[in-house]
Amino acid sequence: MSEQPTLSHNELHAWDRDHFFHPSTHMAQHARGDTPNRIIAGGEGVYITDIDGKRSLDAFAGLYCVNVGYGRTKISDAIAHQASQLPYYHAYVGHASEPSIRLAKMVIDRAPEHMSRVFFGLSGSDANETNIKLVWYINNVLGRPEKKKIISRWRGYHGSGVMTGSLTGLAAFHNLFDLPRAPVLHTEAPYFYRREDRSLTEEQFSQFCADKLEEMILAEGPETIAAFIGEPVLGTGGIVPPPAGYWPKIQAILDKYDIILIADEVVTAFGRLGSMFGSDHYGMKPDLITIAKGLTSAYAPLSGVIVSEKLWRILEQGSDTFGPIGHGWTYSSHPLCTAAGVANLEVVDELDLVNNAREVGAYFCQSLADAVGGHRNVGDVRGEGLLASVEFVRDRDDRVFFDASEKVGPRISAALLGQGVIGRAMPQGDILGFAPPLCLTREEADIVVAATVKAIDEVAATL
Ligand code: PMP
Repeated sequence: MSEQPTLSHNELHAWDRDHFFHPSTHMAQHARGDTPNRIIAGGEGVYITDIDGKRSLDAFAGLYCVNVGYGRTKISDAIAHQASQLPYYHAYVGHASEPSIRLAKMVIDRAPEHMSRVFFGLSGSDANETNIKLVWYINNVLGRPEKKKIISRWRGYHGSGVMTGSLTGLAAFHNLFDLPRAPVLHTEAPYFYRREDRSLTEEQFSQFCADKLEEMILAEGPETIAAFIGEPVLGTGGIVPPPAGYWPKIQAILDKYDIILIADEVVTAFGRLGSMFGSDHYGMKPDLITIAKGLTSAYAPLSGVIVSEKLWRILEQGSDTFGPIGHGWTYSSHPLCTAAGVANLEVVDELDLVNNAREVGAYFCQSLADAVGGHRNVGDVRGEGLLASVEFVRDRDDRVFFDASEKVGPRISAALLGQGVIGRAMPQGDILGFAPPLCLTREEADIVVAATVKAIDEVAATL
């Protein structure tokens, strides 16, 4: 171990303010010390502890990623063992390491039936960049170079890169960055609660979304549309499960116009919805699936693109004609990360976490709806598996938003933290999100619900 002197808390905060550029943070406020600068020191089960010794129940699993919970030594031991054997070797020109091969097999064994290969990256964003490049490559191989546009949805989240930030359908990720860039188009979000025509049933609203998509495809020309990307459940855009019938109706339109479906399962893969994959959960038939977070439970950074047998054949054809594919990252299938992935998926199986997510998730969503669904400032409570959200409104009947300057969502999330529970104020709208580790127990779910009731009451009293 290196002999570094321990930093005082004051030094930590000062060095952080002066040198650390944080993602998604108000830079000026942070530099002035006006934003919380919570420094996390440890975690065990569903709890994290900061340097002041304060414990919080992490009901957002970091950024919906620590699916197996904190402190799983099986995974940290696997990383340490791999580091001592072989910390790194690349995967270019056919090289591999044992954990990467093992993990590829484990992923395909769990993936929907028609999937055949997995490409590893490091983040959800880079995996979606890979997806788009594969789609373009494939259409070039097939001799249809004009079929390149990608359709995503308003409120979708697919990353923060130039292309993936363009796919993302949230203004905060576009403004001042000159995004979105062509050739990305955004269509209707399947946001039933916020549908304009309130007379529509879920099935009718799903049909409305499918019709909107078809209109866009026809207006642009089907011969120009390459792919459609969507999360099985909208995540960062507000945690919004799809209305009944949505995915089968979308899938039918995509099949009709020969458009590839990319299922962005960065949040949903490996159990979050109570099924191994969200695609199976909703009957989607993607040819590309993005995976990340739950692949290693964030014990090490790792993402992947799962490719269907059908597209794999075209990729093979492409390399037979044009040579090796010119795409890859230095850290593609990094052995430390894939070793973490193998151990993580073993823990998911050993603890039966997919079934736990289904059972405790159903209990949690119901308890949350029972406890806060009738509150005058709660417009909607929704969820699937261990992914849930509560949307706050000034007026329940008219679904009137609070003014953004009132910061109702962030204040409720801060009040919840005061109660010892972490939930996330989602970036657009006053929405409190929950995505706890998949090992959550019913007792822990009760703690989250009780704290949420208190947090909402505390803030509502000031409105
Ligand atoms: N896709 C989805 C659905 C996500 O939720 C996220 C991250 N929250 C990403 C892609 C991007 O992943 P990353 O932050 O690892 O780049």
